[in-house]
Amino acid sequence: MENTPSAATERLYFADPALIEFEAEVVKSLTRDGRPAVVLDRTAFYPESGGQPWDRGTLEGADVLEVIEDGERIVHVLDRPLAAGVRVHGRIDWDLRFDHMQQHTGQHILSQAFIEMLGGETKSFHLGPETTTLEIGIGQADEASVARVERRANAIVFENRPVKTYFVPPERVSEVPFRRPPKKEGTLRVVEVERFDHSACGGTHCRTTGEVGLIKITRWERIRGNHRFEFVCGGRALADYGRKNAVVRELVGRFNVRAEEVPASVERLSAELKDLKKSARRVEETLASYEARDIAAKAEGRVLKAVFRDRSPEAVRSLALHVVKQGDFVVLYAGFSASRCHLVLARSESLGVDLRTLVPVVAPLVEGRGGGGPSLVEIAGNPGADVDAALLRAAEEVEKSF
Ligand SMILES: [Zn+2]
Repeated sequence: MENTPSAATERLYFADPALIEFEAEVVKSLTRDGRPAVVLDRTAFYPESGGQPWDRGTLEGADVLEVIEDGERIVHVLDRPLAAGVRVHGRIDWDLRFDHMQQHTGQHILSQAFIEMLGGETKSFHLGPETTTLEIGIGQADEASVARVERRANAIVFENRPVKTYFVPPERVSEVPFRRPPKKEGTLRVVEVERFDHSACGGTHCRTTGEVGLIKITRWERIRGNHRFEFVCGGRALADYGRKNAVVRELVGRFNVRAEEVPASVERLSAELKDLKKSARRVEETLASYEARDIAAKAEGRVLKAVFRDRSPEAVRSLALHVVKQGDFVVLYAGFSASRCHLVLARSESLGVDLRTLVPVVAPLVEGRGGGGPSLVEIAGNPGADVDAALLRAAEEVEKSF
């Protein structure tokens, strides 16, 4: 059972967001959703709040799995219990904390840059493990306007302005030029990117804008009449640049062009491929008509069957349709794609047999499904099935119906 909130936990990260190790006392040992948890008298662990995820790390060797704000207290969910009254040594996962600080401080800077450049207010902010998003109240966004916002935000980074945090009593709150009116009342914690942005925020931030590193908007989309921007800062921007540069290097090497010429090369290649496919289809059609004449001339009997291991379903269909025009034939052909065998069963219009009756007999033999009309049915099945046996069975059925 949990007691009602008692004394507030002292938040060490307010005064020093770079504090990695600290000593504290367990003032309460409890459970949270069946997991062991503790409340400390003081902590450097940031709880989930204001769009920023919680810190990870250890308390006296126990893994800190989740950090939750519970009124004025901070609850640390652990992988094993710790007794009340003991002194503990805490250690924050600095890489994760610093990543959060970069994305979060980058968000403050971007939010103000959106207001200055485009008059867009921040509607919401979400810091995820890979992507960070900012919803801005603007109906239009294009490359040029996004670039202006980015340039302004990064200029603030390059100037390496101090990021100050301080508490303001209620009677002086009106003197602070907040970017947006604070939701909380009473004493407020102000985060000020010097002479640029004032926010009421309880999060952890970089100490200077230079620590944020590069701020890059990676994509955007329309949502609820606003725009949602994905962005990366600092270490994430470096990793993102590395991944994208690798892709560009690969493409530049393959096309043997400069990076900015890659889209045109891809465009040209797809147009060429389309043309080639078209002319290949024409050649296939012509060939099929010649081949069909040859097949018809050499045919013994009316039922012709063949398996074409190296021909596509489309090529086999085309050949079958040409053959049935050459005389009175029932053609039972099979072709293949990478993922399936494809049976084409076709007949000349002069013959009365309804090929649809073959589907329930033949399809199970190739573990497939199919359908069509009286003079043409097609069945797609397992490429590993005994296709020869299936066609033989089809031929027997056809012979019976003559
Ligand atoms: Zn903040």
